[in-house]
Amino acid sequence: MDSAELTQYVADLEPAKAIWINNSGRPAASGETFPVIDPATTNTITEVSSGTAADASAALDAAAKAQPGWAARSPRERGEILRRAWELMMASTKELASLMSWENGKAYTDSLGEASYAAEFFRWFSEEAVRSDGDFAIPPAGGSRTLVTARPVGVCALITPWNFPAAMATRKIAPALAAGNAVVLKPASETPLTALAIMRILKEAGVPEGVVNLVPSRHSAEISETWLADPRVRLVSFTGSTPVGRSLLGLAAPRVVNTAMELGGNAAFVVGATADVDAAIEGLMVAKFRNGGQACTAANRIYLHKDIKEEFTQKLCQRVTALKVGAGLDPETEIGTVVNEKAMRGMNELLSSALDQGAKVLAQAPLPSDLAGYFVAPTVIEVPRADSPLLQNEIFGPLAPIKEYSDEDELLKMVNGTEMGLASYVYGDLNWALHLAERIEAGMIGVNRGLVSDPAAPFGGVKQSGIGREGAREGMREFQEVQYFSLDW
Ligand code: NAD
Repeated sequence: MDSAELTQYVADLEPAKAIWINNSGRPAASGETFPVIDPATTNTITEVSSGTAADASAALDAAAKAQPGWAARSPRERGEILRRAWELMMASTKELASLMSWENGKAYTDSLGEASYAAEFFRWFSEEAVRSDGDFAIPPAGGSRTLVTARPVGVCALITPWNFPAAMATRKIAPALAAGNAVVLKPASETPLTALAIMRILKEAGVPEGVVNLVPSRHSAEISETWLADPRVRLVSFTGSTPVGRSLLGLAAPRVVNTAMELGGNAAFVVGATADVDAAIEGLMVAKFRNGGQACTAANRIYLHKDIKEEFTQKLCQRVTALKVGAGLDPETEIGTVVNEKAMRGMNELLSSALDQGAKVLAQAPLPSDLAGYFVAPTVIEVPRADSPLLQNEIFGPLAPIKEYSDEDELLKMVNGTEMGLASYVYGDLNWALHLAERIEAGMIGVNRGLVSDPAAPFGGVKQSGIGREGAREGMREFQEVQYFSLDW
């Protein structure tokens, strides 16, 4: 897509009417808008309507009205609409990818990958929609019979982050709809346009009015507070940072609203003495640098056994120095920008405080000299201290801190010495790697693989990385409640 086509594509989304209710866009009730910024140039892409409590309530009215009718449709009908959404999304991956790279700053190849990954949630849950089985049993005491079914939870409030603006939305919308729920969605303020494009796809796929509604806003807390105070909302599904997750759990508590929380990570990437070093480098390039390191599953801390450390480090430095950093829309770019100025500053501060504590930069990719955007250089850093801020905090960018280890107990203490527990990675001979992986406190472990995300696998974390799972069969159960009938026999 050239830039004129992309500008037209955005104009056709009618961003000044981005409050999407009953399958049509309208301006915010207050008339307020907020700018969406291109992080590669810091220029404003467009103004998007900024919802307030009035829009949040109007979206809920529509969802509450539509939900019973949607739940009454047959599972096959719901599945076929989702299947059509997959087809339509696959037919527009290039447009969606350009849009994501523009508003989010990530490399076009990453966006293209995300567009198909995001679409796949529609296909996967179109198939799950018709496989929601229950149970029938004779209780131990005999006499009666037990019938167990799953029913839709009701109206769901969905709140998504900017780092995967399409996939984090479809990973929630698809199972919610498959299970017979209606939803209200608030996308991240950095990336509302991708969500708006998905609304149009869902309408075209045949999703009835009111089943999916969207409220972009610069007043995030006002929207979530309105939704969580309303008795019609029965579930909040959130993906984002742990601090915001905690505050939403607090808002959900008074009315005991169901919660699904996909929160922050701090993934360890362990390369053992028996690892195939070249394979581990390939895996790390994906685990660390996919999406410019802005993934909750991103390798955040790299632990290298002393026997392979030198070879691994030397090869990694060569690869990182050769990375091409640039505007996300440039097809040559491998690493785009970070999302905004705050993220760029935060990473620079994290790096300088680690350097103050004895860390050393080993390699760095060059930054583009002709662009004024929010760029952070992919950097390999040797970190001598286990308590370095680079190992303790979620970096969410292209900094790659490495730390040597020799003793396995000491390694495990470091790996598990965090309140996060989303993903981790282990490279080494399979027997050793599996034994280590079993002792790592994380919801997902890549064993000799640098990628764990898969719509057909249960995605989620332990400890403060979250509650619940998305994707797979488990992902639909999040949007259902069990109902049991005791039958006189
Ligand atoms: P964030 O928590 O700042 O924002 C996420 C969403 O919450 C956005 O829609 C935002 O507008 C909204 N929000 C922000 N403040 C709010 C408030 N006070 N009340 C209500 N809503 C509010 O997170 P982010 O910066 O967009 O995303 C990065 C974080 O998300 C990282 O910690 C990352 O690990 C995490 N993440 C987790 C997963 C996962 O599946 N576990 C996936 C992607 C990202």
